[in-house]
Amino acid sequence: MGCFLDGVMSATGCTYGKGNVRKLGFHKLAFSLIDNASGRSVRVTVKPDVIEAGLAGPFVTLRKQGIAPRDIAGDVVNPLIDGVLARAEEDLLGVGELLDVGVSKASSTFGLVRCARCGEAVFLGGARLDSDHEALCIPCSGYAAAAAG
Ligand SMILES: [Zn+2]
Repeated sequence: MGCFLDGVMSATGCTYGKGNVRKLGFHKLAFSLIDNASGRSVRVTVKPDVIEAGLAGPFVTLRKQGIAPRDIAGDVVNPLIDGVLARAEEDLLGVGELLDVGVSKASSTFGLVRCARCGEAVFLGGARLDSDHEALCIPCSGYAAAAAG
């Protein structure tokens, strides 16, 4: 599913570096696009039959055998690409209704502290206070679940 996210980032221009992509770890080939200016959102999903057909094909059979994508022959890969390009968008993707979800802008901060335990620098948004009111990074605070995903 990582390659799906790569495609979404490439197609939308949204990236982790820009801070406008969040991976939720739901294990779906789907995403919600949100327009930060208007607060409107649309859900886009890959149609289940497209996913099922892909999983049943020879490319995934080879991948399950541990063969890297770059080592899979063009006569296996090219029909997949041609098949996607030949299909109508509505046969590949489900596009939901336009919803007004609103947007809360996270304020960016340049405030920095040093973790009292590991000594690494951490921006304030990622710092936690322990019971002695010392700043800790998230892993040192024991609150690592928030950083997963
Ligand atoms: Zn730390």
